[in-house]
Amino acid sequence: MTEPSPRLSLRGVTVAYDGHRALSDVDVSVGRGEFLALVGPSGSGKTTLLKTVNRLVECDAGAVFIDGAPVQDRSAADLRRSIGYVFQDIGLFPHMTVAQNIWLVPALTGADRDGRDARVAQLLDMVALPRELAGRKATQLSGGQAQRVGFARALAAEPQIVLMDEPFGALDPVTRGDLGRAYRALHDAMGLTTVMVTHDMGEAMLLSDRIAVMRGGRIAACGTPAELLSMRYDETVGGLLAEPLRQAERLLAMRGEG
Ligand code: ADP
Ligand code: MG
Repeated sequence: MTEPSPRLSLRGVTVAYDGHRALSDVDVSVGRGEFLALVGPSGSGKTTLLKTVNRLVECDAGAVFIDGAPVQDRSAADLRRSIGYVFQDIGLFPHMTVAQNIWLVPALTGADRDGRDARVAQLLDMVALPRELAGRKATQLSGGQAQRVGFARALAAEPQIVLMDEPFGALDPVTRGDLGRAYRALHDAMGLTTVMVTHDMGEAMLLSDRIAVMRGGRIAACGTPAELLSMRYDETVGGLLAEPLRQAERLLAMRGEG
């Protein structure tokens, strides 16, 4: 019996900007319902990798497959409508209301305007925002609220795959923790497949099923959080784990459990 194809896979993906390699021969797969974190230093190719999936960046060699079919065979517009995309600067339209921002993609695809208000209310419930926010201008939101609206917008078109590029980067640590856990619960409840870029290894360890560590345009290590902990003597993995582990150990010591 053949295995079902993974939800998402990259095979030999290479990308160069003006002859300068940003990704070199990257292979990685993400299963249905899996949450993969991409972690690595600035410039290691995380954003480029994410953008090859929705064809904001085209591969120079290799290919990206969704459910076994190459993304190159689909129109970029159709592809982007079917994949949720959340990034740090959210990109809410300031002059539009929360409801209009959430309904952006369905409006583009000609969704029925009649169903909008009920669906927006449902999406606001989903990301734990009060329904009264629907009529508010995007500029009248806190950072955490705006990011929740960003999630609601990414989920409005009912994507099966969600790509997130440092989605919590601009938030304070408490909001960041709350929102990360809230998103993970949504991911599980909706059976999403998520790829999240973060420079925060602690966050990746706590939220994801598997972590791919990137360095210099390649995947230097990939495994479950437990597997990465066992690789902490590896220079790259260890370097990223050092600070979260130090913090955890100091807190436990303070509590008398170290
Ligand atoms: P990360 O998200 O891990 O910080 P990026 O994927 O943004 O890394 O960048 C990988 C490499 O590609 C870096 O060397 C970066 O300078 C380069 N790069 C990214 N985008 C462009 C671009 N549009 N034009 C030229 N070089 C780019
Ligand atoms: Mg980036």
